[in-house]
Amino acid sequence: MEIKEEDLGQWRRTHYSSEIGPSMADREVVVMGWVSSVRDHGNIQFIIIKDSQGEVQVTAKKGEAGEQLFSMAQEVKEHTALGVKGKVRPQAKAPNGAEVVPTEMRAFSVARKAAPFMTQGKTSPVGIDTRLDLRAVDLRRGQLGAIFRIRQTVVNSVREFLLRQQFMEVSTPKMIATATEGGAALFPIFYYDREAFLAQSPQLYKEQLTMAFESVFEIGPIFRAEPSRTNRHLSEAISIDVERAFADYHDVMALLERMIVNIIDTVKERNPADLKFLELEMPKLELPLPKYAYSDLIDRLQEAGERIQWGDDISPQVMKNLQDERLDGFYFIVDWPTSTKPFYVKPKADDPRVCESFDLMFGPLELSSGSTRINRKDQLVERMQKQGLKVDAFDYHLRVFDYGVPPHAGFGLGLERLMMAIAKIENIRDATFYPRDIDRLAP
Ligand code: ATP
Ligand code: MG
Repeated sequence: MEIKEEDLGQWRRTHYSSEIGPSMADREVVVMGWVSSVRDHGNIQFIIIKDSQGEVQVTAKKGEAGEQLFSMAQEVKEHTALGVKGKVRPQAKAPNGAEVVPTEMRAFSVARKAAPFMTQGKTSPVGIDTRLDLRAVDLRRGQLGAIFRIRQTVVNSVREFLLRQQFMEVSTPKMIATATEGGAALFPIFYYDREAFLAQSPQLYKEQLTMAFESVFEIGPIFRAEPSRTNRHLSEAISIDVERAFADYHDVMALLERMIVNIIDTVKERNPADLKFLELEMPKLELPLPKYAYSDLIDRLQEAGERIQWGDDISPQVMKNLQDERLDGFYFIVDWPTSTKPFYVKPKADDPRVCESFDLMFGPLELSSGSTRINRKDQLVERMQKQGLKVDAFDYHLRVFDYGVPPHAGFGLGLERLMMAIAKIENIRDATFYPRDIDRLAP
């Protein structure tokens, strides 16, 4: 028998899978979701239906279910979008200790093909590209469900944490006229009859907004034309950007580390089932986090035989080579050479070769960069010129510096990088819904 597809019509879900339990015995319910597995025991068919909240077992027995219903239960395939009307019956072996005995079933959309990968289990035997080509189906996998529920908690906890401390959540333009910092390459776009760019960071706007709102944050996309294929770069990533007036880099480092602790505690509190499913333990951290000066680290790297000079950026590979348990987990690298950081980072008053800057690291992975910013116009212009930037192009930014920009500091924290650290994700592509990279613009 071929299963007929039907419309939703007047059918509506009465309960999520997670709400079905033994205490609901004999209640009439309507559940909806997609078929995650089917087991055929001859005279008895078990259909597991998955919805956004979990799984529920539907059990059709020959004789108990009508003939047509039973043969539909025999035919139904994984991934079919299904609605089931039936009665709840306690069943110790079923998820949540109860099953649904169907009286009516509706296939809203019949799965026509077997997916090229399993959605059961914690790992997938196929390559990431096969999964990404069919990402919406891939996201039905339990592992990714758990990861994205944790991600939701991370975002919520950041918001709650910052809002409790008088921050204002802001939105800055993503279509911009000029680069905000050197280095990262921009994506050009058409803006009416002009060339414009996708914003590589909200940097200059969030700094300006401290003039009116003091403490601001934004959780939004950043766009970077990263030419290399790595497991830690996306062309479009989500950045948690924070900027605070009347503060320096020590203040925002203290804020950032408390924010990380808050994130970890909140995930432990709100996602115990996901952590259990992933067999994941949240990293432990003690505050204050260790701080290593850039110069000391360079000395250590040189002693370890690395060919690195004072003034070079420190690559993850170099950090991996440095076997040192002090560099596991979360730590800061502070006081970078001024030449390695963007123009708006404030050089130290007593040694301008070094700037008031930090990177938050997790092992060899950079999670965040932050600094005290320059708040005086002449100093900012001087730094721009030293970095070979066209000062005129920043006129729209520089003009506000005539009107009392407060001392301020801030950081940008990559959401996907943070997810890699806390959920042990190896490839950043699995920390976002639809990754963009040099090879991928679809789906
Ligand atoms: P990296 O050296 O790792 O390429 P960066 O120093 O160029 O990063 P920043 O400009 O300091 O990056 O951006 C702040 C944070 O934003 C980074 O610490 C990282 O967490 C995140 N981030 C930056 N670029 C990307 C990207 N292409 N993909 C994912 N996250 C990114
Ligand atoms: Mg950085």
